[in-house]
Amino acid sequence: MPTLFEKIIARQIAGDIVHQDDRVTAFRDIHPRAPVHILIVPNKPIPTANDIEDGDEALVGHMFTVARDLAKREGIADNGYRLIINCNTHGGQEVYHLHVHLVGGAPLGPMLSR
Ligand code: AMP
Repeated sequence: MPTLFEKIIARQIAGDIVHQDDRVTAFRDIHPRAPVHILIVPNKPIPTANDIEDGDEALVGHMFTVARDLAKREGIADNGYRLIINCNTHGGQEVYHLHVHLVGGAPLGPMLSR
C-alpha cells in the first residue's frame, strides 16, 4: 500500500507542492501549526527515522539543504525556524513516511511543553 505521502509525490492526490526533484518533494502541511509549515519528504518511502540506512546519508542531507533553501525562499531564514522529525509513538508520528517539518514565520515558543 502506498503511503499518503507517496500519493502526493505521485500527484495521485492533491498536495500544495512547493518543491520537487528526483530525490525529495516538499509540500505545505494540510493543518499548519505556524504561518509557514512545510513537509520535506524523500520520494522513496522510508517509514521512520529508525529505517534510515547508511546509504541514505546523502538523501537525508539533501532533505536538509532543501529545507534551508525553502526557509530562505519563504522569508523565514533570518528570524529563524524549527526543523522537526517525529519518530514512532512517543515521537507523535502520524504518517509513516519520513518527513522533516519546516515550521516558522512567528515565535514558536519553547521546544517542548512541560
Ligand atoms: P507527523 O505527526 O510528524 O507524522 O506529521 C504528519 C503531518 O502530516 C501532520 O502535521 C499532518 O497535518 C500532515 N498531513 C496529513 N495529511 C496531509 C495531507 N494530505 N497533506 C499535507 N499534510 C498532511
